[in-house]
Amino acid sequence: MTIALVEGHTSPIRLTLVSSVTTACCPGCGTPSARICSTYRRKLQEIPYGSAAVELLLIVHRFRCDVPACTQHIFCERVPWAPPYQRRTQACTDRILTLAWAMSASATQRVAATEGMQASRTTINRWLVRWAETLPLTRRVAAADTGVLTGVGIDDWAWAKGRRYGTVVVDLTTHQPVDVLPDRRAVTVADWLRHHPTIRVIARDRAGSYAKGAREGAPQAQQVADRFHLVKNWGERIAVLVQPWDPPRPAAAPDPMNRSTPDAPPSSPLAEGTRTADPQARWEAVHALHREGLSLWANADRFHCTCQTVQQDLAADQPRASTIPGSR
Ligand SMILES: [Zn+2]
Repeated sequence: MTIALVEGHTSPIRLTLVSSVTTACCPGCGTPSARICSTYRRKLQEIPYGSAAVELLLIVHRFRCDVPACTQHIFCERVPWAPPYQRRTQACTDRILTLAWAMSASATQRVAATEGMQASRTTINRWLVRWAETLPLTRRVAAADTGVLTGVGIDDWAWAKGRRYGTVVVDLTTHQPVDVLPDRRAVTVADWLRHHPTIRVIARDRAGSYAKGAREGAPQAQQVADRFHLVKNWGERIAVLVQPWDPPRPAAAPDPMNRSTPDAPPSSPLAEGTRTADPQARWEAVHALHREGLSLWANADRFHCTCQTVQQDLAADQPRASTIPGSR
């Protein structure tokens, strides 16, 4: 690889690199070929030089494979430090991933951008999920075996939200994840638990599959409801119980100095500050106020519910039957 051109003295610095190889192995059949038929260009993001972002323009060759039985008639030259279909060098990807192990994807995106490396949080999350998927099972089990597991927490998490879910297992002593299971079926959880007979306590949510998996895979262990779900369930139940007694906010006294204060009652069927369990009344009020130009947030604030609830009401053609307003 030869540096053909350097452009830009400040960020970003652009380097044009031209390949100098004359032969390459076909990825289809592995046969070396020296028949260069054309060149192609790739733009890549490289790790920054000091505080300056670095962009590479890579000019590499396309080769022709002469093996008659090979289906790969033309192939592109492979560059070891720039994997195919990637828009970054491997070093750049590794640098961003190093950050991602220490912080959230959103924070990684922001920190990487200040260093001149661009990657969306979606991309960073996809890298992490791909890494977890390719991790050999033996390595995962070995990681779990570094200490004697006596208590674990199991819960589901999304490989792809709304479509595919797995199970994460967390060591209750170290609070560190010890394994990721490909799904949340009882048989998968039971298989995993059978490989860890030292477990005495399993914290789980109230999903039936985890209860069954724990019962079959670790009958010696005591199952407990985890604190997060207990508090969540408790909060939801309390919200439903106190809702009928939740008094409306006292209406503010009219300001005699403010002549612009309307004397007319509010145009919505519900008064401001009213929390209602009646979806019909809230739906009508939300639509009426929305037509008058009241924002999503203002609507939510007015009826003591979440923006998501207001959004769902606005999206619905008619009141939703079994709606419990979310509390803020
Ligand atoms: Zn070939």
